[in-house]
Amino acid sequence: MKYLVTGGAGFIGSNLCRRLLSDGHKVLCLDDLSTGQERNISELIENSNFDFVNHDITKPFFPEQLDGIFNLASPASPVHYQYNPIRTLKMGTLAMYNVLGMAIRMNIPLLQTSTSEIYGDPLEHPQTEEYWGNVNPIGPRACYDEGKRVAEALCMAYKSYNGAKVRIARIFNTYGPYMDPDDGRVVSNFVVQALKREPLTVYGDGTQTRSFCFVDDTVEGLIRLFKSDHDGPVNIGSPGEKSMFDLAEIICKLTDTKMETTNQILPVDDPKRRCPDISLAKKLLNWEPKVGLEEGIEKTIGWFEKLLKNGN
Ligand code: UDP
Repeated sequence: MKYLVTGGAGFIGSNLCRRLLSDGHKVLCLDDLSTGQERNISELIENSNFDFVNHDITKPFFPEQLDGIFNLASPASPVHYQYNPIRTLKMGTLAMYNVLGMAIRMNIPLLQTSTSEIYGDPLEHPQTEEYWGNVNPIGPRACYDEGKRVAEALCMAYKSYNGAKVRIARIFNTYGPYMDPDDGRVVSNFVVQALKREPLTVYGDGTQTRSFCFVDDTVEGLIRLFKSDHDGPVNIGSPGEKSMFDLAEIICKLTDTKMETTNQILPVDDPKRRCPDISLAKKLLNWEPKVGLEEGIEKTIGWFEKLLKNGN
């Protein structure tokens, strides 16, 4: 099979490309390297089953016949997606029209990577796929949250009007090798700070929660969802809810660092709690995360140690 992976040089995208190649598929990786990194795919360039095209998917793209599309192109960390909110909205809208158009023309399935951010600062816990969310449409996170909500609406519209074969993965916080040390997210910040023996920057009082899924598990979930014929949204995430303070403790323990933190201001509209209900993924895909948080964090520490040693 030949798959298009947009955002294939990004964190989850590059892990997905490696997995598809190791399963024996051909991969056409598209990325404009605005937040994706060349180093994430450098070892794949020699592989004859791998093609890379530097392209901004908000602009039309006409590849040869493919067997499926995984749409991962978008800035995903708050620092990146808030840097140019107009561009982030274009990723949720114009890019989505382009990939859906491709899927229709080629009559192939398209997996859209949506996000737990569509639930906003949720008022229901844990979040099931039926929950409609609590999103501030004019806040600093709106460019990402509302963009991803429009993208889901576009998938459903193309499905009902054009018969598009869509899959929608609502991905919760994911971490692991090939994360960018500078993307400002909590796992990358804490691990890099701990390795440099700097105080960990805890935003707010550190009681806010997230549920962290190791990237190999996330990729497995995406592939299973792609192969299913379920065309509604499915949560892909870990149900293990942790406070940022818990996470800081785990990372300090695993890096053998004395825990030191500095408290910084909590970003506007930062969700207080987030945890997926993954009953649907379990039932439909027979999927649940396998890698425990400590095991996954250790692998992630290994990745950042290697980057720091190479001067990145
Ligand atoms: N956070 C933190 N310190 C950091 C970076 C983030 O305490 O150095 C907090 C942030 O305020 C949020 C949580 O960690 O409550 C997760 O943030 P991240 O940016 O990783 O992801 P998202 O907010 O998109 O879930």
